[in-house]
Parts: sequence; C-alpha cells; structure tokens
Amino acid sequence: MLGADVALLPQPNEDIEDEMLWEHTPNEELTVASAHEVIRAEGNKPFWASFLWNVILHPKTAAIGWKIFRGTMHTDDKLQSMKFKLASRCITCEQQCETQQHLLYECEFAKKCWNYVTTTFQLQQSPTTHLEVVEACKNHSPLAKELWAATSISCMVAIWKN
Ligand SMILES: [Zn+2]
Repeated sequence: MLGADVALLPQPNEDIEDEMLWEHTPNEELTVASAHEVIRAEGNKPFWASFLWNVILHPKTAAIGWKIFRGTMHTDDKLQSMKFKLASRCITCEQQCETQQHLLYECEFAKKCWNYVTTTFQLQQSPTTHLEVVEACKNHSPLAKELWAATSISCMVAIWKN
C-alpha cells in the first residue's frame, strides 16, 4: 500500500496563528533588499564597476558616468539603430557622425580634453577606449588612482554634456 493515511497525520495546532517565513534571511523576515537579491540576475561585474563606484563623485556625475560606461547614451547612431530617421553629424566638429566612440575619444574636442587631463597626470597617451581609461593609472598610488577615476569620469561627463 502506498501513501499515508491522512487521518493519522498530526493535526495543526489551531491555537497558534500561521505565519509566513522568508528563507533568504537569517531572521526569516522578508525585506526588499533580500527579495531584490534573490530575483536579480547575477552576472559578472563589468570591468569599470569598481572604477566608477569606488570614487567620490557627485551622484549626478556618477549616474551619467554609469550611462556612458553602459553605452546607453542616446547618440545619433543609437537613435538610428532604433529606426529613427535622422542625419547624423557631430555637433562639435561637424565632420563625423555622432557615435559615443567619436564624441568621447575621436573628436578633436575630446582629444583636447583628454590631452589636457593626461598631461596633468603625466600619462604617456590619451585613452581611446573605456578600458584604457580604467587601466590608465592602475599601477599608480591609491590616491593617484582615485584622483584619476574622479577626473577621467568627470572629463567624460563634461565632454558628453558639451
Ligand atoms: Zn566630432
């Protein structure tokens, strides 16, 4: 014979009210933070995460920096990829199409900005990619690294807002 006789199972204690328990916290209480931790998609952190978030920046600057690193700025090429019909031209140099790569690293205005910043930090060359920005001062002192992070992110944001 399979199964159990339901009549023989212990009866629930009707004097104690049922309560819900959340197994993802030590005290079994549901919190928004613990629920977020359970449902969020875990993935590898991007290479720029600690570079961006471990530096003291105005929150608004950090938020724009996050958008830049994520590549979510609405440049003309992005809008075109979303089927917007528009002619693209860099507003600064009026020579090239507006892409994030052009605006941040290839445009003459951006090159002048980076040249000023990298000269101040006595670096060999200006960065041409986000990765080069992040790695430019990786072998410097902790203070120099922090200053570079704050300065370079602020530079990117200033170029973007130009
Ligand atoms: Zn340009």
